[in-house]
Amino acid sequence: MPTALSLQIFTLTGREEVAEGTMAFHIAKPADFQFRAGQSIDLTLIDPRETDAEGNTRAFSLASAPFDDELMIVTRMRDTAFKRVLRSAPVGMRFKIEGPSGSFVLHRKADKPAVFLAGGIGITPFLSIIRQATHENDPHQIYLFYSNRRPEDSVFLDVLNEATTENSNFHLIATMAEMDKSHREWKGETGFINKEMLMKHLPSLQGPIYYLAGPPAMVAAMRRMLTEAGVDEDDIRTEEFSGY
Ligand SMILES: Cc1cc2nc3c(=O)[nH]c(=O)nc-3n(C[C@H](O)[C@H](O)[C@H](O)COP(=O)(O)OP(=O)(O)OC[C@H]3O[C@@H](n4cnc5c(N)ncnc54)[C@H](O)[C@@H]3O)c2cc1C
Repeated sequence: MPTALSLQIFTLTGREEVAEGTMAFHIAKPADFQFRAGQSIDLTLIDPRETDAEGNTRAFSLASAPFDDELMIVTRMRDTAFKRVLRSAPVGMRFKIEGPSGSFVLHRKADKPAVFLAGGIGITPFLSIIRQATHENDPHQIYLFYSNRRPEDSVFLDVLNEATTENSNFHLIATMAEMDKSHREWKGETGFINKEMLMKHLPSLQGPIYYLAGPPAMVAAMRRMLTEAGVDEDDIRTEEFSGY
């Protein structure tokens, strides 16, 4: 069961750019903070120097895994008051964090494969789940379809590639939708995730539990694609990153 909600003060320990316009923020993890891979938190800025109509709080999936010593969130750095404050946050800055919350966690029955469909920054809960599953030698078959515009925008492709070598149950299918705008080489799939791409890489479309995360429009398109392909609604779980 998801752990109980709590509101605590947490401290920033570091930050870095992890893809174009995308930053990871590292946060000290209190000894008593527990969460399940895939869960999220609400992060509130304390007395920020600027604010806007959206307020001082945003939800973030925890991209770190429960076995990690620290917490990590990853976000696209858009030009909003919240993100401007976050971008320049000094190490040692304190935040209010509420959570963990959410039930976007791996199903228990390992005989059912898990199929993750991630759009861009929607990778964050899956990064946590995949790294935790690898750490625990979890028997679930996990297929990650990871869609980005370009390799330049793709977060943690190197970590995910490494996980495929450590965990033979994990299968990574990355796809780029706008290679014409990229300066990098790409040998993987191209275009949006669609039924044909799923059929090419999955033993069967029926049977797995599907997990969809990303901007609401992407999640809606993926849900439509799956139901039109005959996937049962009960086998589809979603996490919409409202605000994108
Ligand atoms: C459960 C959950 C988990 C989430 N996990 C993550 C996560 O791991 N990482 C993450 O980054 N986000 C995550 N989000 C989304 C996050 O909470 C924010 O909404 C998001 O980061 C946008 O915040 P913002 O400050 O950039 O924009 P907001 O101020 O929230 O933007 C509000 C609105 O302004 C408009 N807008 C603002 N800037 C732009 C722009 N540059 N271009 C176009 N439109 C714009 C958009 O219409 C948007 O809907 C999650 C959300 C939920 C509910």
